[in-house]
Amino acid sequence: MRSKLVQILAPAAAVEGSEGRESRGKNPGWASPRHTLLPTLPTGTVTCSAATSERTFYLETFGCQMNVHDSEKVSGVLMSRGYRPVENHEEADLILYNTCSIREKAAQKVFSRLGVFKKGHHYGQKIIGVLGCVAQQEGESIFDRAPQVSLVCGSASYSRLPELLARLETGDRRVTGLSLEIDECFETELTRRDNPFRAYITIIEGCDKECAYCVVPSTRGPERSRPSEKILEECRRLVDRSYTEIQYLGQNVNSYRDPSPARLSFAELLARTAGLPGVKRVRFTTSHPRDFTPEIVHAIESHPALCDQVHLPVQSGSSRVLARMLRGYTREEYLTKIDCIKRARRAISISTDIIVGFCDETEEDFGETLSLLDLAEYDQVFSFKYSPRPNTAARDWADDVPEEEKGRRLSVLQERQREIQLRRNQTAVGREFEVLVEGFQPRLQQAVGRTTSNRLINFPGEPDWIGRYLNVRVTAAGPNSLVGVRG
Ligand code: SAM
Ligand code: SF4
Repeated sequence: MRSKLVQILAPAAAVEGSEGRESRGKNPGWASPRHTLLPTLPTGTVTCSAATSERTFYLETFGCQMNVHDSEKVSGVLMSRGYRPVENHEEADLILYNTCSIREKAAQKVFSRLGVFKKGHHYGQKIIGVLGCVAQQEGESIFDRAPQVSLVCGSASYSRLPELLARLETGDRRVTGLSLEIDECFETELTRRDNPFRAYITIIEGCDKECAYCVVPSTRGPERSRPSEKILEECRRLVDRSYTEIQYLGQNVNSYRDPSPARLSFAELLARTAGLPGVKRVRFTTSHPRDFTPEIVHAIESHPALCDQVHLPVQSGSSRVLARMLRGYTREEYLTKIDCIKRARRAISISTDIIVGFCDETEEDFGETLSLLDLAEYDQVFSFKYSPRPNTAARDWADDVPEEEKGRRLSVLQERQREIQLRRNQTAVGREFEVLVEGFQPRLQQAVGRTTSNRLINFPGEPDWIGRYLNVRVTAAGPNSLVGVRG
């Protein structure tokens, strides 16, 4: 059980090892394709109704942390209906893929998974469903492309899942949940939480921005925020179940608008959360630069439980490209926000997302992105080659940076960032940090701990340290992680 946990929580690589590969899987908002079946489940999170059957489900998740958390909620709904999770699709009666369509490669993954059933025709009585962004994007055309699929449901319709499942169980062959006309979040208390320490809470769904390259507004629908009192109530319940770390999620978490009479600003919500007894750490991702206010920085300064970490995607260092991307800020405006974060009374770690090779990006534009890396001095960068997407403004523009050139720019950017990270991590050598021990590597007899600034430290340890907060002194640094000894 533990070695599996270690796999999940193994040291993050901010910039992937091999040059020219896109970052994926380890950023605060992104996850590798993985099964939702992880080892440790808090008791009492999901109450199963009477064992109505021996039905089983397999749910595989692609894409961002929000998808991973959506899957936790979907699993909770399924378990409350008497379904039992299994680790592979062969054993499952219900097979679900929670999909991502942010880039073409991600969207293709689900069709290659579905191809397995098509070829072998060995899916028999199994029910197969496609959830999430590809479901929303492709809609009913998925039934033509993959006739073995019976359920197609976008994330905005998850609250209809119990009804859709009931229809499938009573023999309906094809059901869909594809409306984006939804003004509420997916509220369920039936969440099967997979991470034993950090509880994810989606506080805002959808996106009202219109970045020229991005599918999210068309796959997740308009912004909907959850009432602050419901969020804080959920935090209290989680603390009662021994969670010490809360991570707020949203495509643009800081665009949060409290629909309840309390009308808390995002910074006020953070402050209230940090003040809840039992909450030791609060993280939030992803922040949009346009809605990032000094109030958020002040909240972090004033509340030690708010982690000293901000993920603030810039996408490009060139104002010309930012304007074409419709990001709503210039390079200078973005750097003003970075400056505000850097002037905080306690050091705050900053990470970002960058797209290289967007339509008409010149060598000069790319040079500005490189120079922005030097100015911002990020602790992590997640970098991607531009991938044209359906239902976006840029779809009609020439994707005129050749693939090979996109790859070259990606490698150059990652190499520059590697040097910055190594230099920054080296300044941690000799210092002591409090870490939450999140994993143990039996082969190396090493514990893996995370600082509040989201740095990973490997240090000699014991398996039963997992879940504890310990002080660790850093003895060596690499670009992506630190090495230490217990302080
Ligand atoms: N809402 C966040 C923001 O605006 O900064 C970002 C959320 S987006 C789902 C995650 C990241 O995927 C983006 O920051 C961007 O770097 C990347 N991304 C989105 N669309 C892309 C595309 N068409 N091609 C390449 N990367 C893309
Ligand atoms: Fe996509 Fe832009 Fe919305 Fe972020 S703000 S989710 S990049 S449209």
